[in-house]
Amino acid sequence: MHDVLIIGGGVAGLQAAVFTAKAGLKTVVLDNGDTLVRNTDKIQNLLTEERIAGDEIIETGRERVEEFDGNIEEATVTRLSREDTPGPFTATTESDDSYQSKAVIIATANGFDLLAPLDDEIEYTDGPEGEFTMEKHIQTDAGNRASDNIYVAGLANTWEYQTAVAIGDGAKAAVNLVSDHKEEAYIDHDW
Ligand SMILES: Cc1cc2nc3c(=O)[nH]c(=O)nc-3n(C[C@H](O)[C@H](O)[C@H](O)COP(=O)(O)OP(=O)(O)OC[C@H]3O[C@@H](n4cnc5c(N)ncnc54)[C@H](O)[C@@H]3O)c2cc1C
Repeated sequence: MHDVLIIGGGVAGLQAAVFTAKAGLKTVVLDNGDTLVRNTDKIQNLLTEERIAGDEIIETGRERVEEFDGNIEEATVTRLSREDTPGPFTATTESDDSYQSKAVIIATANGFDLLAPLDDEIEYTDGPEGEFTMEKHIQTDAGNRASDNIYVAGLANTWEYQTAVAIGDGAKAAVNLVSDHKEEAYIDHDW
C-alpha cells in the first residue's frame, strides 16, 4: 500500500512526487514516457534557468524523486477505482499490474478515460479555445482536490500552458495532499 500514487511523470507529476517523497510519504509515480515537455529544447521562462531542454528537466526531476526514495515505474494506467470513498485506490496498468494507494494525484495532462470508474465523483470543465489547449480539465477546489484523496496537477487541472505553471501546480497539489494527510498545514523546511 502506497501513501501516494501519482499518475503521470511529466513536470507536474515529478514535482509533486519530490514533495510527497521528501515529506516521508511512500510515493510511486506511474508514467508512460510521453510528456509534452520533451517537445521543447529551449524553455526560457523558468526563474533559475537561462534556457533548458525539456529532456533535462525530466531527467533531473526523476533523479530528485529517487533521491527522496520515491519510485518511478514505466506503466500505462488503464483504470483507477476504489470500492468506497475516501479510499483506498487501485490503479491497473496495461500489463495487468495493480498498485494500491491511500491518495492519488492525477497529472496526465489529458486522457481521462482511466478515471471512468470514478465518474460519479469527478467533474470536468471544457478547456478554452486555442491551438494547443486541452479539450477538458478536471474540476478542483483551491487546494487541487477533485474529491476525497484525489488531487490533480498540471494541465490535467488548469489550462495555463507553461512548464513553470505545471511545476508550481504539482507542488501545490502535493502540499495540500501532505497537509490533509498530516491534518495540519504542511510547511516543507529545507535545511
Ligand atoms: C510543442 C510544444 C512546445 C512547448 N514549448 C514550451 C515552452 O517553450 N515553454 C514552456 O514553458 N512550455 C512549453 N510547452 C508546454 C509544456 O510542455 C507543458 O506545459 C507541460 O509539459 C505540462 O506538464 P504536465 O505535467 O501537466 O503534463 P506532461 O508534462 O505532458 O506530463 C504528463 C505525463 O503523464 C503521462 N501519462 C498520461 N497518461 C498516462 C497514463 N494513462 N498512464 C501513465 N502515464 C500517463 C505522460 O506520458 C506524461 O509523461 C510546450 C508543449 C508542446 C507540446
